[in-house]
Amino acid sequence: MSNAPMLSIIVPMFNEADVLTAFFERLQASLRAVTPNYEVICLNDGSTDTTLSQLRAFAQQDERIKIINLSRNFGKEIALSAGFDFSSGNAVIPIDADLQDPPEYIPKMVQKWQAGAKVVLARRRDRSSDTWLKRMTARYAYWVFSKLTKPAIPSNVGDFRLLDRVVVEALKQLPERNRFMKGLFSWVGFEAVTIEYDRESRNAGTTSWNYWKLWNFTLDGITSFSSLPLRIWTYLGLSMSMLAFGYFCLILIKTAFYGVDVPGYASLISVMLFFHGILLIGLGVIGEYIGRIFMEVKNRPLYLVAEQIGFESNSERHDPADIESLGADDNAAKTASGLPPQRSVSSL
Ligand code: UDP
Ligand code: MG
Repeated sequence: MSNAPMLSIIVPMFNEADVLTAFFERLQASLRAVTPNYEVICLNDGSTDTTLSQLRAFAQQDERIKIINLSRNFGKEIALSAGFDFSSGNAVIPIDADLQDPPEYIPKMVQKWQAGAKVVLARRRDRSSDTWLKRMTARYAYWVFSKLTKPAIPSNVGDFRLLDRVVVEALKQLPERNRFMKGLFSWVGFEAVTIEYDRESRNAGTTSWNYWKLWNFTLDGITSFSSLPLRIWTYLGLSMSMLAFGYFCLILIKTAFYGVDVPGYASLISVMLFFHGILLIGLGVIGEYIGRIFMEVKNRPLYLVAEQIGFESNSERHDPADIESLGADDNAAKTASGLPPQRSVSSL
């Protein structure tokens, strides 16, 4: 597409009304230094505050600001996927709306991209803007990822990064429903350069993450990128049965030489309880994977769009209510990288 914008900025937004004005001010100031030829795709992820109405006002003032209004809250990872699907820029930058990813680093990222990098990662120099507990848990989560996942996920690198069109097209080929973005990003590969940045505290509003969500997020990350938790049970079972066999021989010999002594209730019940516990954990792990297989097999669309604003000029206008027609127009133009046709986002 010859009139494709140079840059697509993707912004997932969930109840971000308080920061929008400051966000657009800083973002636009940074983009002005790079190019006038950009688009900002705002994904309204089922906000319950005035995010959407404010976005409409911004989009009216500047046609480069576009809105995808998702039909409900799908979560940040899926909102990001929607952003990639609708983006048309030669380089794409996902960024948080809460100004924790400083837009001022965008010119530097673009510079690295223009110098040939396909991916520009932004690594957090320190996590001092986080609480001690979040720092600790993040450290362990990254450690576990680094041990378990095959393409290592770089530590302290969030979703704030620059991706070349080629990489975005590759990402769009990954069909899974479980969008663990950090994992998907590193799975696709491509040469990456890293810049360092200081992550700021949230500008306004509150984070929508809590530790339970983060724990589940980590589980998603591990189970979608590694089957090691399943394999552990093979080895655990093997060593347990070897131990049990040894004990069996011991009892056999003891009985042969000393006869049967009946007491043994305590040891029997503790062994039984212990092994039942072990079995249940094993089943739970298998269940985690089966649950995920179930979600994938249902093959539902990743997200549904209630309304798109600002995309009219690209081609024929989508009927806002027409869910079926979505995602169709941008397929043709973007197979330039020679990759097979992308997954349909909307085949219900
Ligand atoms: N977000 C979203 N959907 C959600 C939760 C969050 O689109 O269900 C957006 C949110 O508006 C923000 C970004 O994802 O732009 C990061 O969220 P947040 O700041 O709450 O997470 P944290 O920075 O604490 O990791
Ligand atoms: Mg944040």
